[in-house]
Amino acid sequence: MSKIEDKLYTTRYRVDHNTHLKIADMEVCRKCEGKPCTIFCPAKVYIWDEDHIRVVYEGCLECGSCRIGCPYFNITWNFPRGGYGVQHKFG
Ligand code: SF4
Ligand code: SF4
Repeated sequence: MSKIEDKLYTTRYRVDHNTHLKIADMEVCRKCEGKPCTIFCPAKVYIWDEDHIRVVYEGCLECGSCRIGCPYFNITWNFPRGGYGVQHKFG
């Protein structure tokens, strides 16, 4: 059985220069215990970098988990603009 990392490797993106993911208030992140976004995001988009969350939006799979997974609803989530974002491969 193939690993999830192998499957994700086949995913392709058309990357927009504008992010579709934003942290609403970084102070909330600094106080957030456990920083669960760094764990639940399957694409590892959220990275704790010394004193802030870095958002590597380019790799987002658009699963929507961070809309409900952040305990403080501190992530502003939108779909990427039309024509941009993840391009799923079928078959
Ligand atoms: S889970 Fe939410 S509040 Fe906590 S670090 Fe991540 S974005 Fe910030
Ligand atoms: S939508 Fe899914 S893949 Fe994209 S940042 Fe949120 S949890 Fe990660």
